[in-house]
Amino acid sequence: MLEEETRCRTCGKVVDNTIDGECESCHVQRVLHSAAPQQQQEQEQQPAQGHVTINMTPQSMEIRISPQPINLVIDEASMDQMVSQWLATRPALFDELVKQRVTQKKTELAIIRDIKSSRVN
Ligand SMILES: [Zn+2]
Repeated sequence: MLEEETRCRTCGKVVDNTIDGECESCHVQRVLHSAAPQQQQEQEQQPAQGHVTINMTPQSMEIRISPQPINLVIDEASMDQMVSQWLATRPALFDELVKQRVTQKKTELAIIRDIKSSRVN
């Protein structure tokens, strides 16, 4: 009589029917579990990984959006306008840039004075 009992090979429960030697719930769990890595791969492939490259030169700013073939080039005049408008709304940043510029100029003047005084001596 015992030999007629059908047991799930995973959880050991006695069940009427088995699927691949397992009860229905164990079978469903295993199928879902083994399918999970495939779902992950699909999810990784789904969103096209785009990125933005910004190339700044003294004359312009080029914005490349990959993988779409979109190249935007902002010319010098537009850059000047953009930066001016940007700085107008950020007085703290503007002040910081001015301070850096003044410090740089002071250093340059100090070097010039040193050169002049060394010539005199
Ligand atoms: Zn089971």
